[in-house]
Formats: sequence, C-alpha cells, structure tokens
Amino acid sequence: MPFNDASQHTITGLPVWDGDGYRGSSSISWSDGRIDSVAPAQKVGGGNAMADAGYARNVQAHAEDDLGLSIIPGLVDTHLHLEYPSTTVADTFSWGLYTPPEEMSLHVLANAQECARFGVTTMRDMASHAVEIAVSRALSEGVIRGPRVLADGEVGMTAGHGDLFTPPRAEQRNPVADSPDECHKLVRVWARQGTTGIKIYLSGGVLSLGDKVAWRNQTRAEIRATIDEAHALGMQVAAHCHTTDSIQIALDEHVDSIEHATAMTVEQMQCIAQRRIPVAPTLLVNEVIAYRSSAVSAIARDKARKIIEGRNPMFRRAAECGVRFVLGTDACKNLVAYGDQMEEVRLMSKIFGWGAERTMAAATSDAADSMRIGDQAGRLIAGSSADFIVIKGRPWERIDDLDVNNIVAVVSKGRVVSGSIEGLRG
Ligand SMILES: [Zn+2]
Repeated sequence: MPFNDASQHTITGLPVWDGDGYRGSSSISWSDGRIDSVAPAQKVGGGNAMADAGYARNVQAHAEDDLGLSIIPGLVDTHLHLEYPSTTVADTFSWGLYTPPEEMSLHVLANAQECARFGVTTMRDMASHAVEIAVSRALSEGVIRGPRVLADGEVGMTAGHGDLFTPPRAEQRNPVADSPDECHKLVRVWARQGTTGIKIYLSGGVLSLGDKVAWRNQTRAEIRATIDEAHALGMQVAAHCHTTDSIQIALDEHVDSIEHATAMTVEQMQCIAQRRIPVAPTLLVNEVIAYRSSAVSAIARDKARKIIEGRNPMFRRAAECGVRFVLGTDACKNLVAYGDQMEEVRLMSKIFGWGAERTMAAATSDAADSMRIGDQAGRLIAGSSADFIVIKGRPWERIDDLDVNNIVAVVSKGRVVSGSIEGLRG
C-alpha cells in the first residue's frame, strides 16, 4: 500500500460497533486514511455496490457467525508517556540523561507505533517536551507513519513531580516555572512549539525521586496563571492529582481533566460528575507499582500501596455518582506496557461496575470527546480517521473479548499496522 493511498478499501459483512452503538452487520469503506462510509451490509449476490464498482482490493467477510469477528474503533488513551526507551535498559532515569534528543525522538515514534499495533490508534502524551512535540507534529503532517499523538506540554515547579523525574543532581533538566510570570511564559513557549494542551501537577507523585505524594505543587497564583494562559490560547489543562486537597484545587481553578484522582471525597465526586470533568483513573499502573513489579524502589512501592488503599471502593462510588472516567493508563513501557491498554479497560469495567458498552465508550468515543477530537477519532463515522480493530468476539457485549490475543488486525489512518485483513476474504 503506497504512503498516500487514495484507493478505496472495504470490509463487508462484519458486525460494527461504532463507538456509540451497535450498527449491525456493516460495510465499512475508507480511502486516504479516512472513513468514507459505514452502512448496513448488502446481501451477497444481490448487486453489491462495492462489487459493482469493481474495487479489486475489497475484503469481504460473509460468514460472520463462523468467523465470530467484529469491528470496533481504535482505542484512545488520554494519558501515557512515550519518552521512554523502546528497548530494555537497566535504568530509565539515567537513559533520559545520556540519550540525545535526536535519538529519543526515534524511541518516542517506536513506542507510539507499538501502541498502534495493539489497537491504540490515538494517544495523548502527558508530559511533553520538544521531542514529543516534534514527533506529534511529524505524525500529524504525514512526514512519518504512525498513529495520532497529542502532546501536552508540562508546566511544573522546581522540585515538583515532573521535575523530580530528573535525578536532583543532574544539571540537564526540562524547563520549570517558579512564578506566575514564568508560568505564563512556559505556556506560551509550548504553544509556540505546537502543543495540544498543558499538563500541571497539583500534588506530588509516586515514581518521582525524593518528593512526597502530599507535597503541594505550585502556589494558587502559579496554577491560576498557567490555566489562564492555556485557556486564553485555546488549550485544555490536565491536572495530576493524588490527594483530596489537589482535587479541590483542580475543581476550584477549573481544570479540564483530572489525572489519577486517587482520593476523591463524595462531594468532589458529585461536583466532578455534575460538571462532566473527564477523569483518567490510571488503574493498572499503581497496581503494578504496588504489587507486581520488582523493578521499582521500595519508596515508590510504599507510596503506591498507600495510594490504592481503599481506592477501588472509592472509584466504584465515583462511578455510581456518574463520574466521567475515560481511558488513561500512564503507560510508560516498563510498568504498564504499550499494549496493556486493553487490560486497563477490562479493569475499568470490573472496578467501576460498568457494563461492556459503557466501558467501551470510555475507551473510544468519550475519550476522544474529552480531548475535543470526537469528530476525528474514537468513532467509526464518515470523515473520521480510519482507525479500527478487527477483533474476535463482541467487546461491547462482553468486555473480556477486548483482549490483545483476540486482535485479528489493526488499521491506523487507513493502513494495516498489525495482523491482516486479507485473511477475511470470503
Ligand atoms: Zn502520567
């Protein structure tokens, strides 16, 4: 398939769930990376419009009951981190110090492509700097092949959660902002480079070196300056919050999404639900740090254990209150791999007590809506990016079917990036 593939492709006869609902046995056509149409499948031999048009490369699958396959939109991960080694290294903290940015950009691209192969065709990098922003732009301009990557520029303080991913004695650091003026300026710097949004920290974190989860990150004046500037430039602000205090600041200051949200009070849940603020629960990562990984420090493990004490019943209550959880994993290769998103989605269903279709919307259409790109991603509708998964089973009816082992093929921007659709030929 050439890089700019204008010819039309069609899969006919598979059940389609389009991000909002079940469309029945359908015919999905795409060209030039975009969906042309999703229409009810026509009976074979009855003057099939696709066959009449003579599309040599049509893929027809007529025996859906035998195959047990279906088509769903590619997943949308609203929170991950791509600037990690795509190969195995001993220490990811020092990798960030000795790897030049030119080389890092290739790892960022490889990691994004890895996500796509596992069905994640849209993703937002949640602490972007020049490297991620450059890769995001090169992808959106079609310079290189790969999925859609949104990049949120990071605005945090000296000794804040973001800053402390760089070991404290290292001189080479990512930019920080330590006054309202510096916050205004850093938002403008990121806007100039082309970020899609801004990430702030309102509490300390788990993997950062030397801080405490309860640490205040930035003053109200700094936080207000960042949000004011980002909103003035048309950008959303995502806020990292692990404490009740930080969630309250996020609500008081009107951020656009809450990341982690591991300590919501009932009043906060009600407010978040009523205002429809998206929340990325990052369930798997804290579970892995707390109980599964041997590659984290004892300090990080203890922080994570404390954070997830009582977390599951709290999140269940929040889901019952109507909190708008969307898929957001914190995937970063070592702890939550690029490709673990389907496990996170199954965990969302289990912990929130959600049905399969509600959960699937949170991982596709509503995740895209939460980033204001619902007309371009997360849905199988005409004009949207041709991003979809051919999968065994019906994940909108049985969430356990959403499993990487069931992936038959992934199509990203109209191009097959894993598996094959040729095998579906009837
Ligand atoms: Zn994160």
